[in-house]
Amino acid sequence: MRKPFIAANWKLNNTVPEALKFITAFTADLKSATSVDVVIAPPFTALYAMGEAMEGTDFKLAAQNLYWEDAGAFTGEISAPLIKDLGCSYVIVGHSERRHIFGDTDEMINRRLKAAIKHDLIPIMCVGETLEEREANRTWDVVGTQLKQGLEGIDVSALVDFVIAYEPVWAIGTGKTATPDQAQEVHGLIRNHLKETYGPDTANRLRILYGGSVKPSNSRELLGKPDIDGALVGGASLKPDQFAAIARSAH
Ligand code: PEP
Repeated sequence: MRKPFIAANWKLNNTVPEALKFITAFTADLKSATSVDVVIAPPFTALYAMGEAMEGTDFKLAAQNLYWEDAGAFTGEISAPLIKDLGCSYVIVGHSERRHIFGDTDEMINRRLKAAIKHDLIPIMCVGETLEEREANRTWDVVGTQLKQGLEGIDVSALVDFVIAYEPVWAIGTGKTATPDQAQEVHGLIRNHLKETYGPDTANRLRILYGGSVKPSNSRELLGKPDIDGALVGGASLKPDQFAAIARSAH
């Protein structure tokens, strides 16, 4: 049985005071989370304060990206050791906004994943097709390639706690959610691919999240599908009551 996993991706939102206001309201609302893993990915600037504020809670901290080198002359970048230092346990890698706005390729994503693993950060690896790709019946072609190339050369032993997020690009921040059946279809294909490549133990253990306009009104139905193990939430994760309601719906 896989423990449900709910993650907040705040993207480029929330100052430190806003982040602290959120976590105060959120912990008052949800209090504890023993039967669901709850992870919050604030912007880099709020990681330190959030790490301190989340100490002693059941909730874990994630960064939204990382560079693959540990240190050096890489102005503007942030590395796995720096993220760990701020108390992160997880890091989002390959979010569609990184792929489509900032030009992340599968090869770059592969390097980021390897850097995360090397420093014991658990990756939340995002994959997903655009509307154009879906309409051209290329969904699995795209998602399968992202998985194969992104995970190239990564040993099965590193995948034990790995998290994959299927996020159809056409459903992110658009208000358009994939239907539970549409999402389950791709989650099932991902699980099968993992089974064939890494064996049933790894495939059955690894959590696959759905992301794309998840909100309290649709989370329970999505999470009711057999291969949907949780959600990566953008917009609705900025509101403590909505994010708490989504986490509660995963119990
Ligand atoms: C995301 O940023 O990963 C996301 C799924 O955003 P939203 O929930 O706003 O669609």
